[in-house]
Amino acid sequence: MSTLTNAQLKQLRQLLNSRLTELLEEVRQEMIASGDQHYIDLAAGVMDVGDESVADMLTDMNAALFDRHIQEIRDVEAAQLRMAGLSYGACSDCGGTIEYDRLAAYPTAKRCYECQSQHEKSYAHEATPRL
Ligand SMILES: [Zn+2]
Repeated sequence: MSTLTNAQLKQLRQLLNSRLTELLEEVRQEMIASGDQHYIDLAAGVMDVGDESVADMLTDMNAALFDRHIQEIRDVEAAQLRMAGLSYGACSDCGGTIEYDRLAAYPTAKRCYECQSQHEKSYAHEATPRL
């Protein structure tokens, strides 16, 4: 379905991987900075969860502290799954191709520009910028 070239996919995969690493590092730093021994103990494992979903792990921890990271980690993980399942780059609403430029700016994008605008109009409350 996707018209992305292998080189473009490779680049986007690297973007997703480095974003995930960045997010995990932020979570790890916050765990340590929390001063809570429970989190400090967990911090060591964050960068080393292997094939497990980090978002699931954080959700299981009931770590409200990381809510804002969890959503983004889920987005990155979902994009990685779409990439593995070859549906990456196809709009989840209309099935059309998502432009490479859009993916390069938002590697987790699951809708084309038109569908995303439509979605944000329909669900305006979800589009509220986060602090
Ligand atoms: Zn679309």
